[in-house]
Amino acid sequence: MPPTSLELSTLGHRIRHQRVAHGYTLDELGAIVGVAGSQLSLIENGKREPKLSLLQAIATATGTEVTDLLSPEPPNRRAALELELERAQTSPVFRRLGIDPVRVTKTMSDDTIESVLGLHRELQRREREAIATPEEARRANTELRLRMRARNNYLGDIEKLAEKQLKTAGHVSGALTHRTVNIMAAQLGFELIYVSDLPHSARSVTDLENGRIYLPPASIPGGHGLRSMALQAMAHRLLGHTPPTDYADFLQQRLEINYYAACCLMPESHAVSFLTQARKDRNLAVEDFRDAFGVTHEAAGMRMSNLLTEHFDMALHFLRVDGTGAINRVYENDELPLPMDVTGAVEGQMVCRRFLARSAFEEQNRTTEHYQYTDTPAGTFWCSTQTGTTAEGEFSITVGVPFDDARWFRGRETQKRATSACPDPACCRRPDAAVAARWEGRAWPSARVHMQMFSPLPSGAFPGVDDREVYAFLERHADVE
Ligand SMILES: [Zn+2]
Repeated sequence: MPPTSLELSTLGHRIRHQRVAHGYTLDELGAIVGVAGSQLSLIENGKREPKLSLLQAIATATGTEVTDLLSPEPPNRRAALELELERAQTSPVFRRLGIDPVRVTKTMSDDTIESVLGLHRELQRREREAIATPEEARRANTELRLRMRARNNYLGDIEKLAEKQLKTAGHVSGALTHRTVNIMAAQLGFELIYVSDLPHSARSVTDLENGRIYLPPASIPGGHGLRSMALQAMAHRLLGHTPPTDYADFLQQRLEINYYAACCLMPESHAVSFLTQARKDRNLAVEDFRDAFGVTHEAAGMRMSNLLTEHFDMALHFLRVDGTGAINRVYENDELPLPMDVTGAVEGQMVCRRFLARSAFEEQNRTTEHYQYTDTPAGTFWCSTQTGTTAEGEFSITVGVPFDDARWFRGRETQKRATSACPDPACCRRPDAAVAARWEGRAWPSARVHMQMFSPLPSGAFPGVDDREVYAFLERHADVE
């Protein structure tokens, strides 16, 4: 293998080190070893590879060994600095910037090189961080999902805390009212204030100093979103959250506040008795559970995954899939074959086209749930899917169970069946060969850029939120009553 330019540079530095140490000029050493001084200069600068016989002659003239000249170690600190700078200036990260490299001269001080190197080191650190963060986020998300799967997607402590807070606020049964949420906030020493100028990156802002929780105004009067957001803001306080140290911590906190809000909106005791009756009647349905507690289909489906797993020992899956077929949210403990990337992440992956979670987008009637039995390589599953639309586009919410448990659900009589062979690409991924051949080179679609699911956390006082915006917001509201 021919030596790289860096290896030649190191060799050149070692030769120069020996020459200078012995007090020779280029021409003097050149004369001893039988080459012109200019040739020796090219070798010392790593621009030319010396023959072994020449190396031998240089070693003899300077009283060293050839193996010593060929050592990969820089001969002194200065040489180490120059070699590191050379390496940094030839890196792709630096070359992409289109900046001319610094030419090192004899008169340039070590401090100057150190300073330039400091910038290079920081540039490379930032580059590594930018690459590592989405990857770290995906891994953290997968670990959290697996941890929750291992504990039935159920957090007993938060269930108890929610029941206690609700009881103290005088909540008895049925949907949780805005009024009760206000009382719950007051018990924690907070007033809920609705404002239209919240920072874009924040869902709510809590002013601990003045005991206020700022929330956005209700876009849909009566929608459960506001109650949920207020409860989430209170949960940070109740659960004693401190600023998250990393992405895993950030995701864990987000899961916990969502969980707390769900426990308040669909309290365990009432929800379990509702589900017990529905199961007895063989009439379990996400839509009924949703309507009984006045929450969204998504919140109801997710809540059923907490409670059916823990209290009825039922294996099931919950999926939120967007209009493109990508999985946004998932819970699964029934072995449903789901797509997965190399890090084990399911979120962001495309679900099988044969799954109702995806085929339901083609249904004409969107006002009710659809049902389907799907044969997969892991067995037959039954599921119920509801589609909906938000400002971001279409989505579907699916709750499903293995074949045997379909008997507890409304919609078990459905005649709709599908077969999925995913992850076999022949199932629904590979295009028809004849059609592909007909269009090859005759069409050009322009790709839509997918929204980054896990953008890096801005590193400020409040991870995930623009702290400058938050401070400006707080300043604006601090003196207003
Ligand atoms: Zn498929």
